[in-house]
Amino acid sequence: MMDRQTLFSRLKAAGGKFAKHIGEWKDAQATFTEEKLEIFGRPVMEKWEDPYMKELANIVTSNGGKILEVGFGMGISARYIQEHEIEEHIIIEGNADVFVKLEEFAQQAKHKVTPIFGLWQDVVDSLPNDSFDGILFDTAPITEDDATVMPNSFFEQAYRLLKKGGIFSRFMSEIEITPDYRQRLNKAGFFNISSTLCSVNPPKDCLYWDKPVMLAPIIIK
Ligand code: SAH
Repeated sequence: MMDRQTLFSRLKAAGGKFAKHIGEWKDAQATFTEEKLEIFGRPVMEKWEDPYMKELANIVTSNGGKILEVGFGMGISARYIQEHEIEEHIIIEGNADVFVKLEEFAQQAKHKVTPIFGLWQDVVDSLPNDSFDGILFDTAPITEDDATVMPNSFFEQAYRLLKKGGIFSRFMSEIEITPDYRQRLNKAGFFNISSTLCSVNPPKDCLYWDKPVMLAPIIIK
């Protein structure tokens, strides 16, 4: 398994940059190709994650209703979320270049999309308690600390924002829910925690994933 330190070193060795302050993310240049999205010269999202994004979208839309997504990226999970019968899709995105893509997406989406520009750390307080049926969280490390120590987890916010019975899922950099991870979820108020494994096929030169599976957590309030 690629631990955080190894991952960080690989991204740096390949020319990837990490910010001193999270605020630098907003105006960092984003480069889109068919295959990937790069910000700060490192991969933030790659197309091979498609089946995993589909799975995360399935999980968080199981109750329909109002869905919050954090991190638009290439819009892959957002497109899958839109295939479900939902009422509203609120998307927080913290990079200005990516936000342009999100606004285009919002105009064409089947179900109502409300884009919010900003880092979730800055904007999430404006969203009301007990208001979402599902939350999909998929951001990327911005600073070196984000990448190397356990990042600010969003768990407390997810718990606050979900309705009772609402479902939270997120990108996982590990393929098991470790006791430590479970404990942090418990601390935020979550006790109904399960997961499924999703098959993926990353290219050999992928800098951040080298396994044939990814873990999709199902965390219910
Ligand atoms: N699920 C997406 C991939 C998201 S990539 C897809 O299917 O394509 C991660 C995204 O999160 C990037 O667009 C990045 O700009 C955004 N992001 C990273 N940190 C963020 C933060 N703190 N707040 C809001 N957005 C953030």
